[in-house]
Amino acid sequence: MNWPLIIVILMIVGWAVGLLYYGVAVPDSQLLGRSLVRGARGGKRVALTFDDGPTPPVTNQILDWLKDAGVTATFFVNGKLADRYPECLQRMVRERHTIGNHTYTHPFLYLKTRGRMACEIDSTQDAVERAAAVRPRLFRCPYGVRWFGLFSLLRERGMVPVQWSDTGFDWVRKNRPGDIARLALDHIDDGAIILLHDGCGRHEPGEVDHTDTLRALPTIVSEIRERGFTFVSVNDFL
Ligand SMILES: [Zn+2]
Repeated sequence: MNWPLIIVILMIVGWAVGLLYYGVAVPDSQLLGRSLVRGARGGKRVALTFDDGPTPPVTNQILDWLKDAGVTATFFVNGKLADRYPECLQRMVRERHTIGNHTYTHPFLYLKTRGRMACEIDSTQDAVERAAAVRPRLFRCPYGVRWFGLFSLLRERGMVPVQWSDTGFDWVRKNRPGDIARLALDHIDDGAIILLHDGCGRHEPGEVDHTDTLRALPTIVSEIRERGFTFVSVNDFL
């Protein structure tokens, strides 16, 4: 056996796998294409984003809370849920929130063909337009996972891929409201895009409980305001 050669091959394969993982899965990586990870500094602005909805009743509870607090947010919705709960999207538009595209069925996009990715994007654009008469400009990949061909598809449609700079990790079951707020606020800076959830990937709305996210919101919002930031839509960062 030629061990030196085998070791070199293993090192090259390991390096290639590491590079691929970085490009596909690390939220702020720009290797496969440019994504908006945070807004420009200087405006003292922060964007709050919610993924995976709409899933009543939690989406409505979050909308109630945001309305009372006077906070604008961005909701990256799944097309199949937009079709099921169009009234939630209508309310988002009415209350001046921004709707983004988060695919129709919330699949991992890696290894997906251009055709399948285009179908996920376009069917969601159509669902949002049917529900609320708007066509999203923003797109966020499920699980933050990007894939080859995605960026050209978005470019052709005039859409902007959006990742995030901060998150409360509210999809981790053990995280309670205090943990979600602490994690979301950990590294908050000018231009931050904060990821939270009002739904849960492929789970049915009845299986989703994001009341801990809702309970974390007052701390997150009041702390960010105390630091002198205002809340804006991700659109305001473009
Ligand atoms: Zn998601």
